Amino acid sequence: MSMDIPLPLQASREQLVALRHDLHAHPELAFQEHRTGDRVAAFLESRGIETHQGLAGTGVVGALRRGTSPRAIALRADMDALPVAEQNLFPHRSRHEGRMHACGHDGHTAMLLGAAEYLAAHGRFDGTVVFIFQPAEETDGGARVMIEEGLFERFPVDSVHGMHNWPGLPAGQFAVHDGPVMACADQFDILVKGHGAHAAMPQQGRDPLIAGAALVQAMQSVVSRTLDPLDAAVLSITRFFAGGEAYNIIPAEARIGGTVRAFRPEVEDVIEAAMERICAGVAAAHGVQATLDYRRGYPPTVNTSAEAALCRQVLTDLVGADNTRIDLRPSMGAEDFAYMLREKPGCYVWIGNGLAEGGCMLHNPRYDFNDDILTLGATYWVRLTERLLQAG
Ligand SMILES: [Zn+2]
Ligand SMILES: [Zn+2]
Repeated sequence: MSMDIPLPLQASREQLVALRHDLHAHPELAFQEHRTGDRVAAFLESRGIETHQGLAGTGVVGALRRGTSPRAIALRADMDALPVAEQNLFPHRSRHEGRMHACGHDGHTAMLLGAAEYLAAHGRFDGTVVFIFQPAEETDGGARVMIEEGLFERFPVDSVHGMHNWPGLPAGQFAVHDGPVMACADQFDILVKGHGAHAAMPQQGRDPLIAGAALVQAMQSVVSRTLDPLDAAVLSITRFFAGGEAYNIIPAEARIGGTVRAFRPEVEDVIEAAMERICAGVAAAHGVQATLDYRRGYPPTVNTSAEAALCRQVLTDLVGADNTRIDLRPSMGAEDFAYMLREKPGCYVWIGNGLAEGGCMLHNPRYDFNDDILTLGATYWVRLTERLLQAG
């Protein structure tokens, strides 16, 4: 796959593979990416790129300026691994039991470093490229923390760009979405408070289990009956706890929890309001109290049209129109790059990781990033930079 890869990047393939394997062998969880961050910072510094550490703890930012233009763009990679026990047996498998790069952030980091190295040595552009290496994409919103700690005040940019590998999409292909690409990920807990009693004397209590069961059922009408059918959303109840050891006690309370996914904040508002209504109504019907704690998680990841069109153009030039997919549906998964897209225009693309054979799916214990796409992904970053910061 050496379609349109610049020669220096072709030559750096083995270096990027070695770097990726080293990161894969030493996975670090959210906000603990010390070794990874230090490696990234050392790599950037040794290529003469102004390097900053410390945002969100382990975050690293590189800034590369050329020419006189005030234009600036940000390219972002994530560095964290997952609490997954790797089942792969290849030499670069995780050295740390129970931790694994099962989402390919090792590859994302290596691709962006490859692009940074190339741009520092050969890049033809006028303006500033900001390389963002963020911690904690998987669970704790490292992007949000970097923003809260002043990322875009210290490094002002006109647009932000992200890329995630996508198993199932053939290597050599990319996908671009105009608009939503990933969903929000909200969480909720419902505490149902009844009145405990002897199981043989239910009239003396208020059964939170029966009320909870009714709540689980009633919640199934939120998506089907309150949303516009053209608005996609999921409400999944994934937790239900009540009772203890005893078979003869009606417990005093039940706890229910789950997740909501949608592509528009307005839809999240409608869902939350419907859940409040149902909690109040079902609780009243059963003579118990039901308290909803609805927590907004990652917002929907929504590409802006102008930037999506530009990225699509860059990709079409790089891999051809047939390999630049615009027909893929958005994913109901979530991505904390959404926080960056709330601050700045930008676009998050998927790069094909190859057919997901042998369990090579994201978050699967047999997953591995595809080394054959490292230089292709780096080339996308390079071409995007040279397009957005075109030298006069
Ligand atoms: Zn990921
Ligand atoms: Zn992931």
